[in-house]
Amino acid sequence: MFELPELAFEKDSFAPWTSAETFDYHHGKHHAGYVKKLNAALEDSDLAGYSLKEVIAASRGENNKIFNSAAQHFNHSFFWNCLSVDGGAPGPKLAEMIDRDFESLASFKEQFSALAATHFGSGWAWLIVENDKLVLRGYHDADTPADGDVTPLLTLDVWEHAYYIDHRNNRAGFIEGFWAHVNWGFVEEQLG
Ligand code: MN
Repeated sequence: MFELPELAFEKDSFAPWTSAETFDYHHGKHHAGYVKKLNAALEDSDLAGYSLKEVIAASRGENNKIFNSAAQHFNHSFFWNCLSVDGGAPGPKLAEMIDRDFESLASFKEQFSALAATHFGSGWAWLIVENDKLVLRGYHDADTPADGDVTPLLTLDVWEHAYYIDHRNNRAGFIEGFWAHVNWGFVEEQLG
């Protein structure tokens, strides 16, 4: 049985960027719903007992009901970990890679923001490592880099449920506010 992870911060820590009400819905209803549906779907499958990444890999293209819930459980759990009240800046190792692959932190933020802003419909903007290089990639709907041959580092949820309560249709405003709350320590830890 998979469990909804507790948030590592108080739900009112990020207002007005993201309100406690959004976390009530986004974490308490949407993410909780994916976990509940995942557990229910696994009961009738032969994937019970698999790790989350194994469930995602085994259900991809085979069982959309399981895949979507499992992928969304991974994506949301990862997204909460990407958030920090204090924000800050990338550590030396990550900063060097960002400069190498995006020229500067400012340019990286600009490109990530553009990817998130122009992603059509529901989905996720991700920073991943692919072949030792930092890469930006959009994933549609529940799709996820969790089971790919890449290392996920940072993500932003651009489904409307992530920002509609606080920003209405202003996705760009939601993206802009994200940069003050990135948990760079978590992102760098993913490099291993
Ligand atoms: Mn979401």
